[in-house]
Amino acid sequence: MPPVSAEQSDGSPEARREALKQVFAEARGCTRCPELAATRKTVVFGAGNADAELMFVGEAPGASEDEQGIPFVGRAGKLLEKLLEEIGLSRTDVFIANTLKCRPPGNRDPLPVEIENCQDYLHRQVALIQPTVICTLGNFSTKLLRGDPTGISRLHGQPEVLVLGERAVRLYPIYHPAAALYTPRMLETLREDFARLPELLVLGAPEQPPPSPAQVPEPEPVEPAPTPAAAEEPPTVDQLGLF
Ligand code: URA
Repeated sequence: MPPVSAEQSDGSPEARREALKQVFAEARGCTRCPELAATRKTVVFGAGNADAELMFVGEAPGASEDEQGIPFVGRAGKLLEKLLEEIGLSRTDVFIANTLKCRPPGNRDPLPVEIENCQDYLHRQVALIQPTVICTLGNFSTKLLRGDPTGISRLHGQPEVLVLGERAVRLYPIYHPAAALYTPRMLETLREDFARLPELLVLGAPEQPPPSPAQVPEPEPVEPAPTPAAAEEPPTVDQLGLF
């Protein structure tokens, strides 16, 4: 994966959130996957706290998410909310995104080419949100972020430190809530794995890799005083209220 910098932001939460809105604006018009672009109702970019310590990454929007433009609003989402509540968190404390930002028609599995096309948005989200813990829900996001085909049943509940772009995060794969909806045994395991999230968050960020040369700030150039025209604010993108 190529290193992803925090876009052109100065690194403050406000600047990173503004940069995230720009990525959203870009994703909303995305046509990299012609079939998904032709069949989706909305691009489900992600929602929650743009400066969250904990980020969830699911698979792809379903019908309800495609209607509403918000991830995890259907039955699996209700379960995710309940599990969050059980550890004292709510949706607004975390950021929730998906591997694919568009609904695959008929809820089919994401295709490898779609995952490839969409991964840049997820990497930019991670670079801008700067979470400490990324909890992957199920196989698709786990395999993508680990860059390895090992499945979720072997990996769930085992945190590992992973360098994504220029930052180290604690990756924590768990079962997808949709898989646990109808399987009590899996729900029990999901709940047990979920219960370990608070202790992972308490650990804080893992040791970070040294900054790449591109990250080392250049000496500040001496700017001429701005003319009145240059000092004007550029028009902002729509405030979408999702994060
Ligand atoms: N399943 C997912 O993986 N993502 C959603 O947004 C909804 C259901």
